[in-house]
Amino acid sequence: MKDVIIVGGGLAGLISSILLARAGLEVAVFEKKTYPFHRVCGEYVSNEVLPFLKKHQLFPEAENIPQINRFKLTSVKGKSSELALNMGAFGISRYLFDYFLFEKAKEAGVVFNLNTTVSNIEFDNEQFQVSTRKGENYSSRVLIGAFGKRSLLDRTLNRSFFYKPSPYIGVKYHVKTDAPNNEVALHNFKNGYCGINKIEEDKYNICYLSHRNNLQENEASIDVMEREVLYKNPYLKSIFQNSDFLFKRPITINEISFERKTPVHQHILMTGDAAGMITPLCGNGMAIAIHTAKLCAEAIIQHRQPFNRKAMERQYTAHWNQQFAMRLWSGRNIQQLFGSEWLSEFAVGLANNVPPVAHFLVQRTHGQVF
Ligand SMILES: Cc1cc2nc3c(=O)[nH]c(=O)nc-3n(C[C@H](O)[C@H](O)[C@H](O)COP(=O)(O)OP(=O)(O)OC[C@H]3O[C@@H](n4cnc5c(N)ncnc54)[C@H](O)[C@@H]3O)c2cc1C
Repeated sequence: MKDVIIVGGGLAGLISSILLARAGLEVAVFEKKTYPFHRVCGEYVSNEVLPFLKKHQLFPEAENIPQINRFKLTSVKGKSSELALNMGAFGISRYLFDYFLFEKAKEAGVVFNLNTTVSNIEFDNEQFQVSTRKGENYSSRVLIGAFGKRSLLDRTLNRSFFYKPSPYIGVKYHVKTDAPNNEVALHNFKNGYCGINKIEEDKYNICYLSHRNNLQENEASIDVMEREVLYKNPYLKSIFQNSDFLFKRPITINEISFERKTPVHQHILMTGDAAGMITPLCGNGMAIAIHTAKLCAEAIIQHRQPFNRKAMERQYTAHWNQQFAMRLWSGRNIQQLFGSEWLSEFAVGLANNVPPVAHFLVQRTHGQVF
């Protein structure tokens, strides 16, 4: 029996596995894919995580990781506004970042079960029983759910948000283009928004969130949707027409839900998006995933001897609510300013004419350095 099983090897799963293994616990991670792989993500990471990553040698110093300190916002019709980012961010692909952390986790002694989908989790007699699609069974004393925004496991675990349909799709590309090094841009289009920022190796990430209707109304074709909807914003048209696309086809996901979830469910400690997902326009889902992993590992380490599950769950829930409940709520509300023609004009006007309000909104969705 393992001390801790972690289901899902994204940022939340990898970071918690490293902290726990370094503290001497026996940890196994189950991940349905194999590293390295691409994910739909804007790949803009808020600097609030930088001191933590550096302190634990979890930042890939050897790579040429661009720093971002400017924010550009454009409206559906192409009006623009710019803002300095106080805390700033860095741009890194998940392909590189997750693989780097995977190597660090192996060094720390974490056991990986890759290409392995967990199909069921049961809690009985103070132990978790984990079953995989391959028909194998494993047990652990503690279980971390790090399986992201939406997994079939959410249905198995009867989490209520799973049954609420979500209309959003996400699309991502890596490109070579001529854009500022230190800027993250957020371009609005009808019922969606698209981020662009630099990542390693002089590449740029283009990633957008769109209402599913945009696709359905455009022959169910991403290509047609981009030409008919995204290109209405002149900034987007120019970026799409003047970039070299590095993937054969875009990476896509659907059913992206921002519904409320709970950080502990059936004694499973949920981390990252599995505990709650912030809207991507805030650009700090990854920072939250890393921070939740830290808080979760701390609660486990603190209450492992003597083992006290109740205290562990109570501490993690309290810290999660304190740090993230308000940020996720703000993200859900601020998202309503985007994707509508007149509201996006209003948001750009606000940023141009009353910069302190724009700074305030950015701060509401970002955390403090930890
Ligand atoms: C369009 C879009 C743009 C975004 N842009 C940004 C951005 O610019 N900056 C930012 O900070 N955040 C952004 N985010 C959010 C960010 O991607 C997430 O918050 C972050 O990836 C959460 O990390 P995680 O570890 O919780 O989940 P994930 O990284 O999703 O990892 C979950 C892992 O669990 C695995 N898994 C799932 N089910 C099972 C199972 N049953 N068995 C085994 N393994 C399983 C998956 O394969 C996956 O590897 C964006 C999100 C979207 C949708």
